[in-house]
Formats: sequence, C-alpha cells, structure tokens
Amino acid sequence: MKKLLLSTALLLVFTAPSHAETKAEHSSSHHKEEVKNPTNSATKEHADHKQSKWGYTGKIAAPHWGKLDKSYTACKMGKMQSPINIARYLEEEVPALESHYKESPLQIINNGHSIEVVFGSGNTLKVGNMSYELAQAHFHTPSEHYLDGAPYPMEIHLVHKTKEGKLGVVGVFLKVGAHNETIEKIWQNVPAKGKISKPDGLTITASKLLPENKYYYKYEGSLTTPPCTEGVNWHILKAPIEISEAQLRAFQGVFTVNARPIQSLNNRTISAK
Ligand SMILES: [Zn+2]
Repeated sequence: MKKLLLSTALLLVFTAPSHAETKAEHSSSHHKEEVKNPTNSATKEHADHKQSKWGYTGKIAAPHWGKLDKSYTACKMGKMQSPINIARYLEEEVPALESHYKESPLQIINNGHSIEVVFGSGNTLKVGNMSYELAQAHFHTPSEHYLDGAPYPMEIHLVHKTKEGKLGVVGVFLKVGAHNETIEKIWQNVPAKGKISKPDGLTITASKLLPENKYYYKYEGSLTTPPCTEGVNWHILKAPIEISEAQLRAFQGVFTVNARPIQSLNNRTISAK
C-alpha cells in the first residue's frame, strides 16, 4: 500500500504543470513546429505536409503506420527498419564514439509520444569521419532495441545530425537500479502534453545520460517513428545506465508503452568490437 501511494505521488509530481512551463504557442516558431510534428526535427522534408496522427495502441498503432499516410510508406515497405533485436554481430573494429557535450539550458518538450530534451548548438559527436551535432534526446519504454531477444525497461535516443542532414542516433539502455539525478531533473520538469518547459537556471549535460563504457553495436536503420525514414546510423551502447524503480514507474504512468516492435534485420550486418 505504501508503495502504491508513493508511485501515485510521483505520478502527480510528474504530470503537474511546471510553473516554468510556457505555452507552445508563445514560444519560437522552431519549437512550435517541433511540438506539432515531433519527428520533424529529424525530417524537415515533410515539414510542409500535415502528417497523420499515429500512436502505439489501437488503430493507429505501429502495425498500421504504413497505411495511415502516404509519407509513412517506409514504415511497411522499408527493408532497413529500426528497432531490431541484437543477437548476432560481426566482431570488427568500429570507430570510437567521441562525444563533446557541454552544459546546456534544460528545455523539455512533451510531444505526446515521448518526452524530448532539446539541445542547442555546440554538442558534437564524432564517429570515424562522421561529424554530428546533438539535436535532442527522448525516451522509450520498454526499450525499442532488444538484446538477445529481450528488451530493457527503457531506452534513451540521443538524436544527432550532420550538416548534410544525415542522422546518427546513440541508443542507451536503462535498467532498474540506483536513483538517477539527471533523469530526476528531467522528470521533475516535464510539461503537459504539447507544451515546452524551460525551467529557470536548470542545465543538463548530455554526457550524464551515457554510461562510462562507450562500446556499442553499429548498424544502419531508420527512424522508429513515422515517417520511418531510412539512412539512420545507429549506435546502441552495450552498457546500460541505471534509474530507480520509482523513476521507471513515473515515466510509465504517463507513457505506458511508446516503443515500436522489433523489425526484420533482412540483409543487414550488426558490427561491434
Ligand atoms: Zn526514439
């Protein structure tokens, strides 16, 4: 009973509108667009097209995405889709992940599909000859990628983009363990659906969302949300980070399930050191 009360209290904290929250309509047009078309920060080519509603349950759930909108065709026809189950991989040298993330003002969007932490410029990631800039980080439960046939309780996606628009996503598994201060700072400032919060004076450093060990699985896939655009370089870190059970429950109280089921690997190879 005590546990139930605690989780209810956390849920209330989690969903209560923050005093620092600003209405999306009052913010810059950049943010307005991101709230309306959450996946569009990654796919500007669809910015002028009003995309159909999609979700994770019922008639708009993942198995139906491909027929909800013409621009979602890749969701059903694509042969290089994400997420995938990581079971076998080719053991080979992969370039190190060199992230240079700096302390940034905390800005959070609740786009109805997930919670998204938005980053300004200057957070870079180098992988071999690819040079990316961090755009945003968001959360899925359970994890979208599976490891040896099983998911983790959650997964973070740090979405990066090159100057040419090529996407590179770093996936971080979350397992239940210690309380996580960085996650707590995000959870405590989540705005209501469709809104943005910019809590005064609070900052975040994206490297705090990464494990110490940066070994990863590398493969080529897609966005895991409509329009399921392919050509995304995926880097799934082997080592998970920890959150507490209460923190997991707080997220799941708002987003019960927001993960796309695993997709066929088809002709692709997963590489890892
Ligand atoms: Zn994602």
